[in-house]
Amino acid sequence: MSIWADAAVACPTCHAATTLRIARGVHGSRVPEVRAAVLARTFHRATCGGCGAALAVDRTFLYTDLERGHWVLVIAAGEVPAWPRWERAVHDSVTRGFALGSPLAEAATPRLVRVVIGAEGLREKLVLWQHGLDDGLVECAKLRLIAGQPALAAPGAALVVDAVTADGGLAVDWWPTPAGPPRQRLALTVDDLAACDRDGAALRARFPALFAGGLVALLRTGVFG
Ligand SMILES: [Zn+2]
Repeated sequence: MSIWADAAVACPTCHAATTLRIARGVHGSRVPEVRAAVLARTFHRATCGGCGAALAVDRTFLYTDLERGHWVLVIAAGEVPAWPRWERAVHDSVTRGFALGSPLAEAATPRLVRVVIGAEGLREKLVLWQHGLDDGLVECAKLRLIAGQPALAAPGAALVVDAVTADGGLAVDWWPTPAGPPRQRLALTVDDLAACDRDGAALRARFPALFAGGLVALLRTGVFG
């Protein structure tokens, strides 16, 4: 069951109002459709009926795809400073939801419980998981990009995976702010990823919080000021 509401979104350019379907929660039946829209970057987006400008809304919502073991709380950019509270809430909701006696208890407990920032943050995880990649290790791999270009670690900025490339590397975008747009395209090679894989044990010991679910993002390590 998914929970939707219509919301009028005012165009920042011409101020016309456009009605958009907004998700409060996405579960079960509508998930394949929403998953495809998130991957195509059409989710929570519309075209202004007045001037044709692209509109996007940024809302906090829960995305669950139990078939794939995904339980992801998507938080709006304005909620980022409160991420520790959202992280506790998402862990509590899984604990409660899958406790004995709950109607969900018969389903497998989700393997991938996360807090992400915005639909783009959800998209990144879906891309990585589709290719069987460990998102904690990918966060560690991003440190290589920052080591080569320290200015990327500006406060409020983020490195977000766009795609897995044909050769098995990653195309990564640098977002100066969560509202975007991304300003620089970077690449993690298949060798970069293999190196992180080899160093997996050391990286897990050094950055345990990136391997414990919840907010699996460099943001929590303080790298982005
Ligand atoms: Zn408009």
